[in-house]
Amino acid sequence: MYFCRHNRQFMKYIIILGDGMADERILELGNRTPLQAAHTPYMDSLARQGRTGRLHTIPEGMHPGSEVANLAVLGYDVKKVLEGRGSLEAASMGIDVAENEMVMRCNLICIEGGKIKNHSAGHISSEEARVLIDYLNEKLETDVIRFYSGVSYRHILKLKDGNKHLICTPPHDVPGTDFTSVLIRPEIPEAQMTADLLNQLIFWSQDLLKDHPVNLRRKAEGKDPANSIWPWSPGYKPQMKKLAEIYPVKSGAVISAVDLIKGMGVYAGLENIKVKGATGLYDTNYEGKAEAALRALKEKDFVYLHVEASDEAGHEGDYALKIKTIENLDRRIVKPVLEETARWDEPVTIALLPDHPTPCRIKTHSADPVPFVIYKPGATPDSVQEYDEFSVENGYYGLLTNDEFIKAVMNS
Ligand SMILES: [Zn+2]
Repeated sequence: MYFCRHNRQFMKYIIILGDGMADERILELGNRTPLQAAHTPYMDSLARQGRTGRLHTIPEGMHPGSEVANLAVLGYDVKKVLEGRGSLEAASMGIDVAENEMVMRCNLICIEGGKIKNHSAGHISSEEARVLIDYLNEKLETDVIRFYSGVSYRHILKLKDGNKHLICTPPHDVPGTDFTSVLIRPEIPEAQMTADLLNQLIFWSQDLLKDHPVNLRRKAEGKDPANSIWPWSPGYKPQMKKLAEIYPVKSGAVISAVDLIKGMGVYAGLENIKVKGATGLYDTNYEGKAEAALRALKEKDFVYLHVEASDEAGHEGDYALKIKTIENLDRRIVKPVLEETARWDEPVTIALLPDHPTPCRIKTHSADPVPFVIYKPGATPDSVQEYDEFSVENGYYGLLTNDEFIKAVMNS
C-alpha cells in the first residue's frame, strides 16, 4: 500500500525557543555574535536541512518584553491580545479570570522612610509571603477584592469590575523613589474609582503589614520587611484563540520555567508540562526538558519548548556565559530532538529561534528581528549553511512579520 511519509496530516511540530539568544557583533569575539562564536553543529545542521529567515517579533511602538515577543512568535496580534503580566501569571497559577474581572501583578515590596527600598521585599521566601498574603485576604478580601499568593514577592490581585486604564509604575523601575509620587493614576476619568481603591489598598496593606510577626522576625534577622503591596500591570482576560482553532494541531504543550510563558500557553490552549529542575537559569535541566518535549510530542501535535538561560546571560552582559548557554541548547536540546525525531514514523517540523535579542552590550532586550530556521522533512532547503543572525539574511523566507512565521511552521 502506498503510504506518504510526509503527508501533512501526520506532521508534528516543535518550536525550540532560546530566550534572548540573538545578539550583536562583539569586538572581543573577533567581531562575531555569541551565536556565531558558539560551536553549534546541531543548529547548523538544522540550517543546512531547513529554510531560514528573520522575524520581527516586536510590533512598532511596543516594549521588547518576553511576553510581547513570545505571543508574536505564536502569531498573535500582540496589540489586541496583550493584557499585562497579571493576567498571564494568573493563568499560569491556575487562577480563573472572568470577563468582568481585572487582574494585576501585586508585588510585596519594602518601603523605608517613605521610599521604595526594593521591589522584592528582600527576595522574601514564598512561605513567609504566603502568610502575609493570607493575612491581607483575611482583613481585606471582599466580593470585589482578592489576593493570590505566588512565588517569593510575586503575587496576584484580582478586582471585580476594575478599570484597567491605569498608569502604574513597575516597582523595580523606581528604587529610592518616594512611593507617594508613584501611586496609581487613572489614564481615563472612568478609571478614577479603580485607582482610588488600589491606592487605598496600598495604604491599608502598609498599616496591616508593618507590625505583622513575619515582618518583626525579618527585621530582627536584619532582613527587609515586606511592608507594602505594589499592584501594577493591570489587564483583563486575554481574548486569545486557541492554536487548535487556527492551525492544524489538535493538541499541544508548553515547557517553560517562566510564568509569563506558561500563562500564554494556557490561553493558547497548550498543556503546561512541569520539568523537575527547570530553573530558568544556566543550571536548568536541559536533558529533562528535551525528554519531556519528546514525550509530549509523542502524544500531541505541537510543543513549544522555551529555554530562558541565554537571556539571563545577556542581562548580565556576560558573552562567554552566553556562548555556553547556546552550546548547551545545541548539544543538550537541539541534538536529542533532531536525532530522536529522525527515527520516528511521523515527520516532525522543527523550528528554532529566539524571542528577541538580549545584546550583552546593552544588557537588556532589543526590538531587532531575530534569526529563525524551520526544518520541515521533505521540503527543499535553502542555501544557508549556518544558524546565526547574519547568515539567515540570505534565507528562503526573508523578513517575516505578524503571523507569517507560525504559518510557515504549521502550513505545508
Ligand atoms: Zn525573552
